[in-house]
Amino acid sequence: MADGILVVVSGFSGSGKGTLMKKLLSEYDEYALSVSATTRAPRTGEVEGREYFFKSKEDFEKLIENDELIEYASFCNNYYGTPRDYVLEQRKNGKNVILEIEVQGALKVKEKYPDTMLIFVTPPDAHTLRDRLVGRGTECEKDIKARLRQATKEADCMSKYDYVVINDDLERAVKELNEIISHRGDIKSNN
Ligand code: 5GP
Repeated sequence: MADGILVVVSGFSGSGKGTLMKKLLSEYDEYALSVSATTRAPRTGEVEGREYFFKSKEDFEKLIENDELIEYASFCNNYYGTPRDYVLEQRKNGKNVILEIEVQGALKVKEKYPDTMLIFVTPPDAHTLRDRLVGRGTECEKDIKARLRQATKEADCMSKYDYVVINDDLERAVKELNEIISHRGDIKSNN
């Protein structure tokens, strides 16, 4: 069996990429979503091992020391990182593994694994971004501002991505995402 494809999906905080990923995974069997470790506090409704592995700063630094992460980055004063074993194991099982991570980490993954597909998800416009961030009610005004500032920085890196998907309509965007990834799968299996 051919190894699955490694796919990095990034997007501004509030781009709706989380919802997009959930839908992609519920509709198609060939994907596995990597669960990251983070030092950020859990939001209401988030479950350990489902959204994230929630770690203290000390425990996260042990993961770094023991070389257990494919990549890690600091985002709005918290660490986020991708545990290696699950990703490699799922790829071996033929699954296309999705890493939903921010841009610094995405570029590190591409450096380590050059055949990684980089996909950037954006909302249709800046107003939608702010409305979504405010509307989900998970961040205070200060954190929303920090996330919007971060979005401006991330926009500068968009040109380094292989594809940009506009998340204007959930159904349509999920279909497009699946088509982009499975098209690469077809090219791989024809070689
Ligand atoms: P949030 O706090 O909204 O869950 O995530 C903040 C940002 O961190 C998002 O852009 C998310 O994609 C990114 N992120 C989540 N997990 C990882 C990871 O393992 N590594 C990196 N580099 N970024 C991550």
